[in-house]
Amino acid sequence: MGSRQVSDWQGMNVTVAGLGVSGVSAARALAGLGARVTVVDGGSGETHEARAAELAEAGVVVRLGDARTLPEGTDLVVTSPGWKPSSPLFAAAAAAGVDVVGDVEIAWRLRGPGAAPWLAITGTNGKTTTTRMLASILTAAGLRTAAIGNIGTPIIDVVLGDERYDVLAVELSSYQLHWAPSLRAHSAAVLNLAPDHLDWHGSMEAYAADKGRIYEGNTVACVYNVADPATEELVRAADVEEGCRAIGFTLGTPGPSQLGVVEGILVDRAFVADRHKQAQELAEVADVNPPAPHNIANALAAAALARAFGVEPAAVRDGLRAFRPDAHRIEHVAEVAGVAYVDDSKATNTHAAEASLAAYEPIVWIAGGLAKGATFDELVTASAKRLRGVVLIGADRALIREALARHAPEVPVVDLERTDTGAMSAAVREAASLARPGDTVLLAPACASMDMFTNYNERGEAFAEAVRALADEHA
Ligand code: ADP
Repeated sequence: MGSRQVSDWQGMNVTVAGLGVSGVSAARALAGLGARVTVVDGGSGETHEARAAELAEAGVVVRLGDARTLPEGTDLVVTSPGWKPSSPLFAAAAAAGVDVVGDVEIAWRLRGPGAAPWLAITGTNGKTTTTRMLASILTAAGLRTAAIGNIGTPIIDVVLGDERYDVLAVELSSYQLHWAPSLRAHSAAVLNLAPDHLDWHGSMEAYAADKGRIYEGNTVACVYNVADPATEELVRAADVEEGCRAIGFTLGTPGPSQLGVVEGILVDRAFVADRHKQAQELAEVADVNPPAPHNIANALAAAALARAFGVEPAAVRDGLRAFRPDAHRIEHVAEVAGVAYVDDSKATNTHAAEASLAAYEPIVWIAGGLAKGATFDELVTASAKRLRGVVLIGADRALIREALARHAPEVPVVDLERTDTGAMSAAVREAASLARPGDTVLLAPACASMDMFTNYNERGEAFAEAVRALADEHA
């Protein structure tokens, strides 16, 4: 893709794909800069009409019911995350020699001179957590910052807003990276790489390559996961600025140019005067919330990026202590009859579920939903010995049941056929009857939620509600 320099939007014909949050934000911003904007969306109906009417007031044309054909005279297409690269609209753009870019690319091009540098984070799992941890550390260091990108205020709005920042903590999805060819972060981290969204990217190679774009043009540090060699491969493949360093993070003892853990202490052997002889103490494992292994890895990655930006060790500790995880991410809901109930509804793929299953024992596991093409053999094999029992819900539960039959035939499984609104409450009851005092009932579905719920939030709420009802009965 040729990276055309767009310095003047006046009179440019921009087509925005998708009337979602990022599409609406892009359309408004570009219309505000003088572009002639058309939003296309295949949908129709009341919500769409209402949004279209609002945008019309800002001078934006909205074309509903046809997402395939490229409006006449389009100079640039701005896409939204949900749109697959194989969408007919993009084929039409390619045929017409028109560039396609995403909201992150637009935000990057719109940054003014002297704008805040970006510390960028991607990975299959842990992005939001790590980005928020990083923002918390930067704040503790007295820097003006915000966690943006795939979270919070749309990224274009932040870049064009009045608020001034010293540095930004930017979460980037593989979709956003795919469509952001000219992005150049100060430093960046790829937390881990496991198969996900392969239906969107087409292959694991294409997915990894899109993630790897985050390292392009880094100036200070490319942060990778020592336990996940594929992330280090991406650093090697990247074209970075002279002097940019590869920095590893590990749950083990760190080597030179790494951050790691020694006797319960998070230590830095990268950003010290002599990395061969010195190690700088940053924080204690107990400062990380929650101190589950995968989350300590997230904390180390956040610390590495903060240290690359020159943050002092004490601010790393203070920032980690001040950090509170978002809802539905290994959230302790209640203890009922000696059993802990934990909501990790955000574990929407097998890699995430494996991480949270590794944090407890014994577990009654509630799993299932939409598998998105995943297989469960590896997850079940890795977790089998921790399982007291399993309760399965959702459309693709047979896939998990079959993996359990293959690798953990002795573990009792309850297969819930119902998918109505009461299904989660039934699942919690089944789990309660399988659990013994001291066990953890863990909702870590390893699947997407859309077969039964609007999203993972709603799934987590349903779980928490069912647990609270159970607690009331025991009170
Ligand atoms: P993302 O923004 O990448 O979806 P989140 O920080 O929201 O990531 O966490 C999503 C889920 O992934 C969590 O609920 C947890 O189960 C799991 N998770 C978080 N960090 C990691 C990690 N470093 N490795 C594996 N799984 C993780």
